[in-house]
Amino acid sequence: MSSKTIGFIGLGHMGGPMAANLVKAGFAVRGFDLVEASKQAAKENGVQIAENVAQVVQGAGAIITMLPAGSHVLNVWRELLVLVSPNTLLIDCSTIDVDSARKAHQLAAEHRLPSIDAPVSGGVVGATAATLTFMAGGEKSAFDRAEIILSTMGKRIVHCGDAGAGQAAKICNNMILGISMIGVCEAFVLGEKLGLSQQALFDVASVSSGQCWALTTNCPVAGPVPTSPANRNYQPGFAASLMLKDLKLAQEAAASVGATTPLGAEAAQLYNLFNALGSGGEDFSGIIRLLRGKEDAS
Ligand code: NAD
Repeated sequence: MSSKTIGFIGLGHMGGPMAANLVKAGFAVRGFDLVEASKQAAKENGVQIAENVAQVVQGAGAIITMLPAGSHVLNVWRELLVLVSPNTLLIDCSTIDVDSARKAHQLAAEHRLPSIDAPVSGGVVGATAATLTFMAGGEKSAFDRAEIILSTMGKRIVHCGDAGAGQAAKICNNMILGISMIGVCEAFVLGEKLGLSQQALFDVASVSSGQCWALTTNCPVAGPVPTSPANRNYQPGFAASLMLKDLKLAQEAAASVGATTPLGAEAAQLYNLFNALGSGGEDFSGIIRLLRGKEDAS
């Protein structure tokens, strides 16, 4: 087993560039995905392609998974847990439900393997530029080992607490984001109807108590923040389908612990409608079109 060899499972939009950054940092990366195109792209970035999970884990000091949902992570972990060398570090960077994340840690513990849940924020741009933020949950000793690896793919690595704490931080943060984006959009729609210019509202709110990331970085109207997706017809950015996924995870988590999150529930409903109207591929700030009225929703 070599600490410089990393197994990487899930070479999609996020996993592909993350694995490429590990290669750039000097790790030997062995990767696996179900999709041929993802494997080919990773190969061009210096990732050694494995044909199955057994090949990925061979000789690896750490395994990273970057998969769509909790069921994928649990299935893959169940398969690899019986194949890895003792003391192999397991890192899941996918965004999944807190219960599955805790279950994954429990499975690892049953095999005496250290594990970390480490979902990310920063999107494909951050994955490519190695500027992701990692929110990690798990034992401190496992976190310390993971930090060295994660720091080659990100800028900020925060240890949030025990098993599942990284996923909890991720969905709480994104629930704030979904709610605040809708709030900002509603304010622009109201301002427009009151005859207030978008720039004037931005100039006031961006330096007043309405200030937030949804306004000052991802502004949902074109003009005030030239880099925001509104200036390129709402090309993501952060896709509305992913915002819906995270808001649903937040609602599931809230239900499982009896937390009252009425605005989180409303945000999930609105993003559900926005997705149902066929806008899931747009940046999540495009929801302003839905709030302006039906004729502008598509
Ligand atoms: P993606 O669909 O592009 O990639 C997932 C990859 O996993 C696919 O290539 C798929 O073929 C592969 N896969 C699925 N099951 C597999 C299996 N059993 N074995 C091997 N490979 C398998 O998704 P993504 O955008 O890269 O997102 C990955 C995770 O990161 C998700 O949990 C997502 O919520 C989270 N995330 C995404 C973004 C983003 O902007 N895309 C941002 C933050 C977090």
